[in-house]
Amino acid sequence: MKQDYPPLEGAGGGSLCADSLLSLLRTTGPEKTRLFERSAAIKEQHVGNRVYFRGLIEFSNICQKNCLYCGIRKNNEQVRRYNLTDDEVVEAARFAADNNYASLVLQSGEVETGNFTRRVAHLLTRIHRETGSRLRITLSCGEQDKETYKMWHDCGAHRYLLRIESSNQALYEKLHPGDGLHMYRRRRECLDALQETGYQVGTGVMIGLPFQTVEDLANDLLFMQQFNIDMVGMGPYLEHSDTPLYAYRDQLLPLEERFQLTLKMIACLRILMPDINIAATTALQSIDKLGREKAIKIGANVIMPNITPGKYRDDYLLYQNKPCTDENADDCKTCLEARIALAENEIAYGEWGDSKHFRERDKGRGMRDEGV
Ligand code: SAM
Ligand code: SF4
Repeated sequence: MKQDYPPLEGAGGGSLCADSLLSLLRTTGPEKTRLFERSAAIKEQHVGNRVYFRGLIEFSNICQKNCLYCGIRKNNEQVRRYNLTDDEVVEAARFAADNNYASLVLQSGEVETGNFTRRVAHLLTRIHRETGSRLRITLSCGEQDKETYKMWHDCGAHRYLLRIESSNQALYEKLHPGDGLHMYRRRRECLDALQETGYQVGTGVMIGLPFQTVEDLANDLLFMQQFNIDMVGMGPYLEHSDTPLYAYRDQLLPLEERFQLTLKMIACLRILMPDINIAATTALQSIDKLGREKAIKIGANVIMPNITPGKYRDDYLLYQNKPCTDENADDCKTCLEARIALAENEIAYGEWGDSKHFRERDKGRGMRDEGV
C-alpha cells in the first residue's frame, strides 16, 4: 500500500481551503498529474482499488418538473413517456442479484403522488422478497416529503441520490424555472430529511454548466464536505437541443475541458473526503470512451451499469449522445469488466460496498443516541 504521497501544493488531505481548491481545479500539466497521483494514492489507502457495481434501472421517464437542462423535462413533447412494468423492474433486479452486482439504483423522473409513493414502496418490498434481500437499493426519485422518504426507507431503501446540481443558489435559480416547484430551499431541506431518516446520502453537481465559475465548483466541493455526504455522483453537463439551456451552448467550455474539470473535481473530493463512495458517471463516457475508467484510476470507486431493458433506453435521454443506449445488460457487463481491468482496479462482485464514511458517521450517531 502506498503511503508516501507526492507533495502537492495546498493539499493537506481532508482539509483544503477554497483558495487551494481553486488552484487545484485550475491546474494543468505536471501539477495536474501530481493531483491525480495524490488522489489515486488516497483512494488506494482508504477504500482500496476496488469498484462496486450498482445496476441502474431507469424505471420511468415521467416527470412533473421542468429543469432547464434535462432532456426528459415535462414540457419536452418529443419524449415518448414510459413506465417499466413491475415485472420488468423485478426481472432487472434479479439479473443484478444473479450476476452478483449486490446493489441496485432505481431512478426515475420526479412524481409526487400517493400512487407513485405506493408503487415505489411495493417495488422495494417485491425486489427484497424475490431476491432474498441480497441487494442494497439506492433510490433516485427526486424531492419527496419526509414521510415518503421514511416509508421507502422502512421498505428497504438504504441509500438515496439527490444532486444539489449547484450549491450556488443564484446559479440554481438560473437552471430551474421560478414556478414554485423548483426551489433551492426545498432541495436543501430534502437532503436534510434524507440524512435524518438514516439513508446513506449522495449528492452531486453538473460540471461545465453555462454561467458556472470555477469558484462555484470549489464551493460545491466545500458544500459536500460540510454537508457530510456519504456518496457522490457528479458529471459533466451535456447539452440537449430540446431544452431551454441549449440556447446558451455558445458559452460552454469545450467538451474536453468539461471532462478534465470533472476529473479534477473527483480528485479534489477524494482528497477532501477520503472514505466516501464516488461514482464514475455515464456522462463521462459520452465525452471520452474511456472516461469512466480514467475517473476510476484517479479516485472514483463506483460504477453504475445500465440494466434497464434495452427497448426503453432511447427514451431516457437526459442529454444527447448518451452511450450504451443500444445495448442490453449483458453487453454492458462484459465491456465494463474489461474496462475496469484496464484501470488496474478489480470489481468487488457480491459486495454491497456501503459507504465507509456512512459507517463511521452512523457509529457516531449511535453513540450520540446512547449519550456517549
Ligand atoms: N429526477 C431525479 C432527480 O432529478 O433527482 C432523478 C433523475 S435525474 C434525470 C438525475 C440527474 O440527471 C440529475 O440530478 C441531473 O444532474 C442529471 N442531468 C439531467 N440533465 C442533464 C444534462 N443535460 N447533462 C448532465 N446531467 C444531467
Ligand atoms: Fe425531472 Fe430529474 Fe430531469 Fe429535473 S433532472 S426534469 S426532476 S428527471
